[in-house]
This record gives sequence, C-alpha cells and structure tokens, in this order.
Amino acid sequence: MIQMYIPLNFLGVIYREIKQSLTDLDKMFLLLEKEREVRDAPGAQPLAGRDATVRFEDVSFAYEPARPILKHVSFEIPAGKTVAVVGPSGSGKSTLARLLYRFYDVQEGRIVIGGEDIRHVTQASVRQAIGIVPQDTVLFNDTIEYNIAYGRPGASHDEVEAAARAARIHDFISSTPKGYQTMVGERGLKLSGGEKQRVAIARTLLKNPPILIFDEATSALDSANERAIQAELKSAAQNKTTLVIAHRLSTVVDAHEILVLEGGVIVERGTHLQLLARDGRYAQMWALQQIEAAEPVL
Ligand code: ATP
Repeated sequence: MIQMYIPLNFLGVIYREIKQSLTDLDKMFLLLEKEREVRDAPGAQPLAGRDATVRFEDVSFAYEPARPILKHVSFEIPAGKTVAVVGPSGSGKSTLARLLYRFYDVQEGRIVIGGEDIRHVTQASVRQAIGIVPQDTVLFNDTIEYNIAYGRPGASHDEVEAAARAARIHDFISSTPKGYQTMVGERGLKLSGGEKQRVAIARTLLKNPPILIFDEATSALDSANERAIQAELKSAAQNKTTLVIAHRLSTVVDAHEILVLEGGVIVERGTHLQLLARDGRYAQMWALQQIEAAEPVL
C-alpha cells in the first residue's frame, strides 16, 4: 500500500504542476530543482511560531564550494519591523531571501524564526509563515481568481476580492471582459510587470503570513506605477516582519535598519539618516540615485 501510495502521490504532484502549467517552464524546473535542495530532518516538527522575529546569525553560504556568496552575515528583523537590503547586483541580496524561505540550507551559522533554527522544523511550516512578493511573479495559466486565491487555497470570492482591492488591482480586474474569471498568463491576458506584482501582493495579503519578503523588481516600472506599488507594499507590510530587497533607495527610507551588502559582506548598516550622516557607500548610492532621478527622460 505504501509502495502504491508514493508513486500515486508523486503523480498527483506532477499532475497538479501540469494542470497549473506555469507560464514560465524554466522557472518551474528551477523551482522543483530548489525544492530538492533541502530535506526535513527526521521527526521535524512545525514551527511553533512563538513570535515572528527573524535572525541571521553569522550566516555563510555558497552555491558552489569554490565561490562563497554570503560571508558571516548577521542581522535581526524584530517582529513587525522592516529591514531593507541594498547593494550592487550580484552582492547576494536575493540569496538572503532564498535562504530565509529555505530553498537552500546555510553552510555556516543559522537562521532563526521566533528562536527556532529553520533547519530543525518542517520546510512547509517555514513557507507557511512567509509570504514572498518576488521580482518576477509567476502566473498560472488560469483565471485571475485562481491566481490570487493560490495565496490561500479555499478562500472565498469575497476574500479574493478584498485582497485585490487592498492591492489596488480590483479596478483593473473589473475592467476586463470576464472580470475575475479572465484567463491570465502565457495563453491568456498578459499583465504588465506592475500588475503582476499587484497580483502577488494580493496573493500575499490573502495568505496573511507573519513574515514578508519583498524582492523589488529590477526592471524599472514607470514612476506612477512604482509609487503605487510602494504604497501597497507599505500597507501590506504593516505589523509584519519584513525583509525588503531593494533596488531603489526610495523604498528603504523608513526601514528599521538598512543593510548595505557588497560581495556577500555587510559593509554598512543603520537607518537612512544614520547612513547619510556616515557619508559612506550608502550616501554615495543615495546621491547617485538623486542625480539619476533628476535627469530628464529623453
Ligand atoms: P541582483 O541585484 O542582480 O538581483 P543579488 O544581489 O540579489 O543581485 P543574488 O541573486 O543573491 O544577487 O546572487 C549572488 C551571486 O550568486 C551572483 O553572483 C549569482 O551569479 C550567484 N548565484 C545566484 N543563484 C545561483 C545558483 N543557483 N547557482 C550558482 N550561483 C548562483
């Protein structure tokens, strides 16, 4: 019976994946690849969820042994606060998010949620506690309703609509011929980067996890869209423990702490005002972005 159950269960997973038919197959395989990287420890229990404080304690990590990516990274996101990470492309910012979501296990140090090492609890319970708004949201070739409800399977239409309103995507959805039943994705209605991120925010609002990871899109949205997304994110992050991977410094001004990551090392840390006063890397990046923002768009 057990022998039968495992392959059938596996087929069930495959069937679900095919049915959902991700718009980006490469991403699906990447995701499945990552799923295989970590295994629950024998007898692992779910996260107790005592509180949503996140701590990286002296974390080092490499995808390949010869190339360390993160080196002795330590920081804390107190429950309900926002910590933002900035730094050049390739410095390891998104890797922090992947480790917190436990796509990979750290090789040195530990990541702790509410006092518990995430390697010692079930992966599913860690992912249940975290909502991710990724850089590029993967939409399923299904209705927009399904795509939002994916945040909490079994959610009612009213709950989906409330999340869509909060993420300010409801009006857009209502303007499409079939509303919430409109098919999206590769074989349906194509959404812009900003619209996709709003779907991801709606999904996350519906899931209502205590911890939020927001990986800001690198591709520039138009400034009205960007401001709108930032406002929605701010309301989504209220009272949640939030890690923001920021590409635009305007996102981080209100953060409890800003970490400047370079080559996998935290080279500066503090609030926006503290870092400006320090007149170091962050202040340089800030000055540069001010100049860029002031340049006329040709
Ligand atoms: P960006 O701002 O461009 O998004 P980032 O700071 O988020 O960059 P990461 O995505 O964390 O950077 O990547 C850090 C380094 O790790 C990069 O050099 C990248 O090439 C490498 N890297 C990322 N994913 C993998 C992987 N799966 N296997 C091997 N190396 C990887």
